[in-house]
Amino acid sequence: MNLVQFLSLLGLFAAGLAIGCPLARFVPFLPIALIELACGFVAVLFFGSAVYRRCGWMPRAPRCPKCGSADRAYSVIPHQADGFMLECQKCKQVLVLQSEVAVVLGDDGQEVGRLRLRWPKIVGWWTANPPFK
Ligand SMILES: [Zn+2]
Repeated sequence: MNLVQFLSLLGLFAAGLAIGCPLARFVPFLPIALIELACGFVAVLFFGSAVYRRCGWMPRAPRCPKCGSADRAYSVIPHQADGFMLECQKCKQVLVLQSEVAVVLGDDGQEVGRLRLRWPKIVGWWTANPPFK
């Protein structure tokens, strides 16, 4: 996450706080600050991925599906199609990272599986759908 992405999410959080202020009057049994914070988090969780998609930002890369490397160290390979082609620096597994899908390629360049981004998509949690390996 770079500074622009962080500031965008912070702006979403501030918008949620601003919306939560008048909503807090309708819930007198909870503290106002708690309702405002909840509205801020909800705004980030529900609208953050839409902002990411609109701005064309890529999510955090998944763990390598072959070696499971947690450091997510990839080399970017020049690629013509949508997304980024990444190569794991440890095991040389290649995958194509798109906005919400990571296509896992085999040694022959054919697709062997897909990883899908789970909600909330701005966090970068990936799951194999369907499971493979
Ligand atoms: Zn790997």
